[in-house]
Amino acid sequence: MTDFSIPFEDDDLFASAGLRLTIDLTALTDNWREMARRSGKARTAAVVKADAYGMGIEDVGEALYLAGARDFFVATVDEGVTLRMFAPEARIFVLAGIWPGTERRFFENDLVPIISSEEQLAFWMAVLADYGDYPCALHVDTGFNRLGLTMDEALALADDVSRPASFAPVLIMSHLACGDDHSSAMNKQQLESFRVVSAAYEGIDSSLAASGGIFLGDDYHFDLTRPGIALYGGQAVNGIANPMRPVATAEARIIQIRTVKAGETVSYGRALQLTRDSRLAIVSAGYADGYMRSQSSDGVPLRQAVPQGGQGFVAGQKVPVAGRITMDQTIFDVTDLPEGAIRAGDYIELFGKNILVDDAAKAAGTIGYEMLTSIGLRHERKYEMDEE
Ligand SMILES: *Cc1c(COP(=O)(O)O)cnc(C)c1O
Repeated sequence: MTDFSIPFEDDDLFASAGLRLTIDLTALTDNWREMARRSGKARTAAVVKADAYGMGIEDVGEALYLAGARDFFVATVDEGVTLRMFAPEARIFVLAGIWPGTERRFFENDLVPIISSEEQLAFWMAVLADYGDYPCALHVDTGFNRLGLTMDEALALADDVSRPASFAPVLIMSHLACGDDHSSAMNKQQLESFRVVSAAYEGIDSSLAASGGIFLGDDYHFDLTRPGIALYGGQAVNGIANPMRPVATAEARIIQIRTVKAGETVSYGRALQLTRDSRLAIVSAGYADGYMRSQSSDGVPLRQAVPQGGQGFVAGQKVPVAGRITMDQTIFDVTDLPEGAIRAGDYIELFGKNILVDDAAKAAGTIGYEMLTSIGLRHERKYEMDEE
């Protein structure tokens, strides 16, 4: 055996990571309680699909469970199986529904499939005939045109006296297309449609509101609300101040600081030409880490809201992205920081408490949801919680 003189087990991966993500679980659970408060009499679930919006379904699921959440929504059966270990007594709904070959995993992990098409319904009836009673949820489309039985299908099913007694939905749900835009007439239309479906399934819990819908008020809350993005601190409603606490902080390590003369160009395509002598900080995160190339400093077609591109935060100031973001590195212009304020090895915040994730997303021409879920696998993660 080789005798390694470097004590690998002592390496602090978080302290040395190129990209690190800090998740504030206290802010997360505060946000869930705030959503529960705003949900009034309705119960409040937690949507933890896509690895809890990139924040880690294990730790996030457990923290929300300990805070009192007892209803969860995941996208896939695999996510449900993972979550079950951290939320033993919770109801876990699977948004993608059930497919042949996954029955056993549903049953063994006590997962509730959300049936959203006639095909899934037919399969589900066959499953019940073979295995006996088991709960499910029904997704009804009220105008989104993504998942769900049509209104006609759902109403016919409600009236169908021949349906087997073992068919026992525990939840009727629908999803708003414009929950983030409270000026849209679509919300009211979907509400009216959903009321009709909800009445047809009297005695069964109903659920319409995700984060944006919760802010629409009591009429939209029904029996169960389904917040996702608001739990993670993201903006749920456009055009109003976001009351949620930021949860995630992404920071990239500065690998090198270089001095560059006025007139020189920066990064691929020479897209940025410096107009003054500058100092540039090169950090170890790029688009392969989910720091989207569309946040590059300028000349990015399709990005209109923030034409000058993204910003980082370091030494108490915002610093602009310089030139194009590359696969593994991003360049920030730190000329305006006092000499010596930062050095290689320090970290620049990409988003967090100082650069809101929605502002970083806007500079990339996208939404906070995509920014959070894009921060991929190549990072070290740390969870923090206030002492009670
Ligand atoms: C993702 C999702 C949610 C959560 O939406 P947010 O906007 O993140 O709150 C709720 N319901 C369904 C059906 C979803 O797909």
